[in-house]
Parts: sequence; structure tokens; C-alpha cells
Amino acid sequence: MAVTTTYEPVIGLETHVQLMTQSKMFCSCSAAYAGAEPNTHVCPVCLAMPGVLPVMNRLAVEYAFMTGLALNCQIPEASKFDRKNYAYPDLLKGYQISQFDLPFNINGWITVEAEGVTTRVGITRAHLEEDTAKLIHRHDNGDSRSLIDMNRSGVPLLEIVSEPDLRSPAEARAYLQKIRLIVRTLGVSTGNMEEGAMRCDVNVSLRPVGTEKFGTKVEIKNLNSARSVLRALEYEIERQARALDSGELISQETRGWDEDKSVTFSQRSKEEAHDYRFFPEPDLPPVFISAEWVEELRARLPELPDQRRERYVQEFQLSPYDAVQLTSSVEVSHFFEETVRLYPNPKTVANWIEGDLFRILRERDTEIDTLPMGPPQLVELLQLIDRGTISHGTAKEVLEDAAFSGKSPASIVKEKGLTQISDTEELNRAAAAAIAANPQALADYKAGKKQAMGFLTGQVMRATGGKANPALVNEILRAHLDKA
Ligand code: ADP
Ligand code: ZN
Ligand code: MG
Repeated sequence: MAVTTTYEPVIGLETHVQLMTQSKMFCSCSAAYAGAEPNTHVCPVCLAMPGVLPVMNRLAVEYAFMTGLALNCQIPEASKFDRKNYAYPDLLKGYQISQFDLPFNINGWITVEAEGVTTRVGITRAHLEEDTAKLIHRHDNGDSRSLIDMNRSGVPLLEIVSEPDLRSPAEARAYLQKIRLIVRTLGVSTGNMEEGAMRCDVNVSLRPVGTEKFGTKVEIKNLNSARSVLRALEYEIERQARALDSGELISQETRGWDEDKSVTFSQRSKEEAHDYRFFPEPDLPPVFISAEWVEELRARLPELPDQRRERYVQEFQLSPYDAVQLTSSVEVSHFFEETVRLYPNPKTVANWIEGDLFRILRERDTEIDTLPMGPPQLVELLQLIDRGTISHGTAKEVLEDAAFSGKSPASIVKEKGLTQISDTEELNRAAAAAIAANPQALADYKAGKKQAMGFLTGQVMRATGGKANPALVNEILRAHLDKA
């Protein structure tokens, strides 16, 4: 059955970002759990032994505040940690140290660019907590068991909660990418979703277009890529629309996302929702932050994505669209700025990066910083065009090669014999031959038919294996035709 009513999605995200500190949130164990031998980064504190006391990691606290500042949040003078109680094997203490009613950061906002439109998305709060252990579920020969790796237990985690301000899956994906860009720019997290350094839960409800009241929301938990956020939302919006159309009520529930089947599935209903029995963490003092400390942290912020985008418009006279594209990742902006430093023509550099380079990256599903080619090679390529050594078309071909071989464009041109023919004698011969072989084209030209010129240019280009300088071919052909 097709959906008949037009619904507007209302979406809010809860994003967990692991902070890149050396030690864990409340003990001195190494937080570098990725790739480590299981259960080696542990101590009595993160193993939840009785009688131990947590100690706050100052850098994690500072990173949390710095991220809050970058998200335009207010920082209340007083905050505290709370115990969030629940029983699950990934949490040996039986509670997670988190923040409940007095979080570090509140009432912020960020800008999100999606499909050419910029929207402002509210940030409800960003609070600090500890990550849980990792459970590994194994099914070997009909025998099922769960293993536990405590290395991740106690790694600092910042939870960023958005207002329900997002209105499409594309916007939700762009929001997540913006958060990732901000934390990477700050250097507080790798933002690496494949490795679990950033994970997110999405909340979505539908309302008929033109109405105010929010519908009942469904939460889809534990999405670990921007692509799954997009796909899970697309699926869930369609599912809810069909349900609403057939008169069903949406039940408030938590759902999971099955990547292989591309469906969301019910995990637990509202009735089964946990009562976390939050209460203030008695083993940690409240946190008081002075105005001076806030200013000190603000002074440590690097140039943020929106500021960088603004600067690209001012300093390089780029369009806002170009500026968004070129600041879409830390690596892309470094690549762009370094290229412009060596070749001070920002618009040309922007066109090559946004056009051919981005296309190549998309086709090979790779990132700019993993290419063996760097800014110096791109500059060399642009100079080869400027000198007339190669045509624009040939340059595209050379770029494909250089991007993955890392070879110098000049050596590629030489090796493959791609040098553009600017030798007028050779072109004169080819032009005369083309006209002689195509008397009809000559007649058409004399009769004022413009296409004749294009046809003859094509003949000369073909005769020279595409290596002729097209502007020169045109000029020479015209001279021949006018004389004929
Ligand atoms: P809960 O009490 O279930 O945690 P919250 O009000 O704290 O709900 O919101 C959790 C997340 O859900 C936030 O990101 C918020 O923006 C989003 N959200 C809240 N209400 C809705 C709704 N009706 N539709 C979609 N998202 C919502
Ligand atoms: Zn420890
Ligand atoms: Mg909540």
C-alpha cells in the first residue's frame, strides 16, 4: 500500500564521542584500547573492585568543556556527576558514572549544511560519562557464549544530545558529519565511527506536514556509520508513514538496525524502559568552573569549521558553496590551503579539488589523506596546463594516474607521450588534409554553417591522437578555410 498522507520527519540525535585522552576517565589505565590484548588495560577502579575510588581525568573534563564551547553551549558554573544504575554485563559496577541534571554544557547550537540549505540545530546538552566494557558474542559449533573485554571500560565518553530540529535523513547525516568535523578539528576525538570512537542513537517521529505537534518517537540505537544513520532513518520514516496511514499508533520503543537486511526491528517497548534511579555520585566532588577557566579553554580552541568556511569566502573570494566543500574535512582543507600556498589561484585549485579529485575519491571510495599524491603534484599538473604542455582534457587523465601512483605529473606526461602538439607546421598539414578530405565541410563553412568548423576540428584532433592544442587547431583551421 502506498503512503497517502505527506508526513514531515522530526529527528533528534544522541551522539557518543570517545575523548582522546591518554588515560581513562577515572583511573590511570591507558585509554588506547583499540587493538590491545583483551583485559590488559585494567585496574581495580575500572574493574569495579570494592573499596576503590574514582579520580577525575582533568584533560577529559577540559576536552568536554572545549567541545561544549565549540558547540556554542553555555557552561553552568556548577556541575556534578551522577550514577546511572542498570544491570548489564558490560557494566561491572552496576552503574555508569554519567551526568543527569547538572551537565557540563547546555543550550548550544551548530549549523548544518545539507542539500544546499544551512540550518541551525540546537544542542540540548553535552555531558561527560564513562564508556562500558565490550561484549563479544560468539557462536562456535552450536555453542554460544559471550566474552568480555574490560579495556574500553572507563574510557571518557562525551554524549551530545541534539534538539529535535532535524527534518530529513540527509540533514541528520550532515549533522553527524558536522559533529565529527568539529571534534576532529578540536583534536579531542578521532571521530572514527568504524572503530566505535563515535556512535549514535537517532530518534524519529512523523507529523502531518503543516501541523505543530510532534508524533510519538522511536529511538534507533547504536548506529555506527553516517550511512547507516541515513539508511535506518529512510527505512524507519517509510515504516512509520505506512503504519500511520493504516490507522496504527506508533508505539514509543527502542529499535535496532539490521545492516544486512536493511530493516529496523523492535528491541524494547516503553514499558520495558529502564528506571535508572539516578543519584549524585558520592565519590566525586562537584565541578565548579570559573569564568577565567572558561576563557582559558576558549583561548585554546583552534579555528573551527564555520570560521574556516567564513575565512575561505573572505580570504580566497570563494563562493559559500565552495567554502563548505573545501572545509568538509580537516584533511581536505589542509590539502587545499597547501596547494594554494604553492599555486596562489584559489578558484582554479578549488575547481580541481572539488571536481576531478573528489570524483576520483568517490569512485575509489577513499580519502584525500590516503592518496600517494600531495599538493606539490597537483601544483605541477596545473603548471603543465599553464605552460601549454598538456590540454585540460589530458590533465584529467594525468591526475587519475598521479593520484594513485604518486608519480610526478611531468614524468607521466613524458612516459605516456601526452605532450600537446603546439607545432604549427604539423597542425597546418593536418588542417589542410582534413579540408581536402572533406569538401562538403568546406562548402558548408562557406555557406555559413557553423557546425562545419566543429566537424573539421574533430577531424584534426582525431588525426593528432587528441593531443593537439584545440585553440590552436581552431585558429589554424579558420585561416585555411578563409583562404580556400
Ligand atoms: P528521552 O527522555 O526518551 O531520552 P529526550 O526528550 O531526552 O527523550 O530526547 C532524546 C532525543 O530524542 C533528543 O535528541 C531529542 O531531540 C529527541 N526527541 C525528543 N522528542 C522527539 C520527537 N517527538 N521526535 C523525534 N525526536 C525527538
Ligand atoms: Zn583502570
Ligand atoms: Mg533523554
